[in-house]
Amino acid sequence: MPLPADLPVVDHHCHLAPSGESVEAARRFASAGGTHLFLATQNYTAEPPTSLAGYQEQFATTVGLAERVEREAAVTCYSVLAPYPVDLLAQAKQLGAREAMELQFAALEHAGREVEEGRAVALGEVGRPHFPYPAELSEYVDAVFRHALEVARDAGCPAIVHCEELDAAGFQSLANLASSTLFPVQKLVKHYHRRPLPPTEYAGLVPSYLARRGILEEVLDRPAPWFLETDFLDDPRRPGAVLDLATIPRRVSTLLDRDPSSVERLRQPFVESVEAVYGFRPDPTRPGRK
Ligand SMILES: [Zn+2]
Repeated sequence: MPLPADLPVVDHHCHLAPSGESVEAARRFASAGGTHLFLATQNYTAEPPTSLAGYQEQFATTVGLAERVEREAAVTCYSVLAPYPVDLLAQAKQLGAREAMELQFAALEHAGREVEEGRAVALGEVGRPHFPYPAELSEYVDAVFRHALEVARDAGCPAIVHCEELDAAGFQSLANLASSTLFPVQKLVKHYHRRPLPPTEYAGLVPSYLARRGILEEVLDRPAPWFLETDFLDDPRRPGAVLDLATIPRRVSTLLDRDPSSVERLRQPFVESVEAVYGFRPDPTRPGRK
C-alpha cells in the first residue's frame, strides 16, 4: 500500500558522506516512502579538525550535501551542526586540553551562526563521549557540553545530545544541566536512545529512538514529542554497522499494511514532535513522495 500522501516520513538523525553513498542513499530513502531527513554533520576526514577552518569546511560540506539531497533526491533535508564531542579527546592530545576546548567553543559558535542564518536547524551532536575517557579531561568535556547548550539557547534552537545510554537518573542530570544553563529542556533531544523508559522518566527531555525492529510498535502510543532515527553512517567500510537509511519508511509501510488506522499516531513523531521541538511543521506536499 502506498504511504498516505499527507503523512511526512521523517528520519530524525542520519549521516551522509561525500565518500559514501551520499545522495544515492537519500534516493533509496525516498523510493521507500521517506520525505524528510535531519542530516547531522560528521568528520569527513580521517582525523578530526584541529582548526576552526577545518570545522567551517566540514559544516559547509554538510550543508552542501543537504542541498544536493533536496535537489537531486527530492527529500527535504535539514542540517544539524556541531563539533563531535568525541573529537575533543584527539584534539586534547594534539593541541592540549585548553586549546582543544577553545577550538570546540569556536566551532560551536560557528554552528550557532549557521542556525541563526538559516543554514541549519539544530546544534548536534553535542554532549560527551559515550565511553570512559581520562578523568583529567572531564572538566573540559563538561565545559564544552555546557557551552553547546548556551550557544543553542542563544540561537533559539534544539540541541541533539550524544552520550552514553541514559537511565532515569541520567535524564534527570541532563535536565539539571539544561536548567543551570537556562536551556529549555523541551528542546534537548537524546539521540540514539535504544531502550525505551516509561514516558515519565525522561525528565522533560525528548527521546529519539533508534528504529530497531519492534521499537515503533512499542512506542507508537506515546504522545509527542519523540522521534525515530537510523543514525545511518554512510560508511562503505562498515556496511550493516547501523540501520539502513530506508529503515523508517519500510517500518512505517509494514505497520500501515497491518493497521491502517495507526496513521494518526504516526503524526506524533513525524509532525507534532517536529513542531514541538523545532517550531515548524514538515510539509508533506514537498517532493519526495512517489
Ligand atoms: Zn550520529
